[in-house]
Amino acid sequence: MNLLYNAAELKEYLNSIRMKNTIGFVPTMGALHNGHLSLIKIAKEYASNVGVSIFVNPTQFLPNEDYHQYPRTLDFDLELLRTIACDWVFIPSVQEMYPREMDLKIDIGYLGTIYEGAFRPYHFQGVATIVLKLFNLIQPDVVVFGKKDAQQCAVIRRLTKALFLDLKILYGEVIRDPSGLAISSRNRYLTEIEKERAIGLYVALQKGRAVYLDCQDTKIAQMEMINTVKTFQPTSIDYFAIVDRFTFLYPKNIQDAIAIGAIRLGTTRLIDAVDIS
Ligand code: AMP
Repeated sequence: MNLLYNAAELKEYLNSIRMKNTIGFVPTMGALHNGHLSLIKIAKEYASNVGVSIFVNPTQFLPNEDYHQYPRTLDFDLELLRTIACDWVFIPSVQEMYPREMDLKIDIGYLGTIYEGAFRPYHFQGVATIVLKLFNLIQPDVVVFGKKDAQQCAVIRRLTKALFLDLKILYGEVIRDPSGLAISSRNRYLTEIEKERAIGLYVALQKGRAVYLDCQDTKIAQMEMINTVKTFQPTSIDYFAIVDRFTFLYPKNIQDAIAIGAIRLGTTRLIDAVDIS
């Protein structure tokens, strides 16, 4: 497995293999788990050479968020990546990705201001900016993102289309633990009691899915999701909604509708999403 610590090393390596390979890429912030591994496995089905970036991106965190506390488990991550024969890992420094006096941000429009964007202003600006930098550096043929971060998927889709990027985007299903809780790097922050309560996020989304399939009324489904999650006593509820997966506006059809939600347990914020059909 090739460990690449800066853009020059990355480019040199990729140039040496590009002629004979299709390149698959999975961006991550490390603290890897089975959710990440599932995306790498998908990439391997579509590309002959697959790599991962591990970069805790400072521009997608608000000043009061957990950037400094975000779990950093590089040795463990590299071991895990070796077990699935990942070809390369890009592990840049902040200075490498954001050279001083080269300030530039990608504004993703209204999509960056609603739901997650309303609770995390500028988050998607940070996501779009780092992802575009990575795409330009790597020029992958295939990239894979997880459906758990449904709005991130919509942002990346929009970015790719609007900027005429020539790559294929694949979306991996949400990997869950047996209770239904979506696996997340942030789950390690949860106490045992909070873990029990966190299950309510998925239970509520499933309830919303069933209600929406039944009546196709977004308001009723939203109310049912909120009533359901309340019984699990989260610290607070940020939002629940049924939206179109592409626009995050009112769903145009049932095939593209998804249920999304975000709750807090103590200081930990969790998000999740399920497909309606
Ligand atoms: P992160 O390291 O949290 O930035 O996530 C990197 C990628 O892994 C993103 O595309 C996430 O949507 C995806 N991901 C995170 N958790 C899961 C999960 N439980 N199942 C599938 N994909 C996931």
